[in-house]
Amino acid sequence: MSPHSPLASAFSQNDRLLVIYTGGTIGMQQNANGLAPGGDFAARMAAALAQLTLAQQRSLPPYEVISYSTLIDSSAATPLTWQMLAQDVSEKLTAYAGFVIIHGTDTLSWTASSLAYQLQGLDRPVVLTGSMQPLEAPGSDGLGNLYGALQFAAMPTLQEVAIYFAGKLLRGARAIKQHSEAANAFTSPSYPLLGERVGNDFVVYPSRGLGLQQRGAPRFELPDYRLVNHGEVVRIVLWPGMCPWQLEAWLGDARIKGALLQLWGAGNIPDAPGLLDVLANASGEGKLLAAISQCPQGAVHLGAYAAGHGLSDAGILSGDDMTPEAAFTKLVHLLAQPLPLDVQRQRFLTPLVGER
Ligand code: ASP
Repeated sequence: MSPHSPLASAFSQNDRLLVIYTGGTIGMQQNANGLAPGGDFAARMAAALAQLTLAQQRSLPPYEVISYSTLIDSSAATPLTWQMLAQDVSEKLTAYAGFVIIHGTDTLSWTASSLAYQLQGLDRPVVLTGSMQPLEAPGSDGLGNLYGALQFAAMPTLQEVAIYFAGKLLRGARAIKQHSEAANAFTSPSYPLLGERVGNDFVVYPSRGLGLQQRGAPRFELPDYRLVNHGEVVRIVLWPGMCPWQLEAWLGDARIKGALLQLWGAGNIPDAPGLLDVLANASGEGKLLAAISQCPQGAVHLGAYAAGHGLSDAGILSGDDMTPEAAFTKLVHLLAQPLPLDVQRQRFLTPLVGER
């Protein structure tokens, strides 16, 4: 762990943050096979922040950096990665005023959603960020994202898992990656910004945050995600012409404990005979099945269309306007716990961290 004290600032040592570096493009460097996560992130981050103006450097809170021993491209993240991060934040919680998690962008919103369920009742900021260009690339978005993430992670009024990216602070459990190339890569389609950069100011909107909406002591839930780390939960995005046998191939497998279905529009499925039977059988076997829309905005209303009418009868839970990330990681989180099925079902339908 390497301590970094920026120039004399308004912060005390009690305000120090912990930066956890997991890998991702922001820390990548070129090797013989292409871009791969590079080491020595603490020194590289300090060198980058030294390019800020003196006033900006003075506004930085003190921070320390830890790097994971195995740095990953976030495509390699699994539920165990989410669990390890939550455990690290939980163990170190009281030693730091806030946390910044440096993460690849490809699955950043999945990790953020999972952390939100594991770190319920969080009383300080946990801000995830990354970048579309490596930190040392000319014109990289990495420096701006690091700077903003540090600023928001030092704000005590922010009391939840958030993503800072390209000037926007988003609720982690509401965010999706919306662009594969542009710097403005993240959005939260069904929830307003938690904060934003306005010129050189970082503005948080407390009335939109969990700090005000869910006061209370931390009530972390840190189940053993090894129970759901072997493909026990699947995500099925419907397509025209889909046949019941294909759904059966997934849901009939005894290893499957839960599934997220992505329906059309407000909750429509193909009118293929047998499709609802496959769903009803799986849910009758005690599998946790939930549905959201394929549309990035708007909610599902199961039963609004005749073709989708039988979904509720088949035991499918409405995911309302949740993102795929939030719905999937919630199924994982609930299925990792020894809860009776009716409690899992009831908790899925209840907003736990402002995810629906
Ligand atoms: N492939 C990279 C990752 O997700 C992309 C990124 O970091 O932006 O780790």
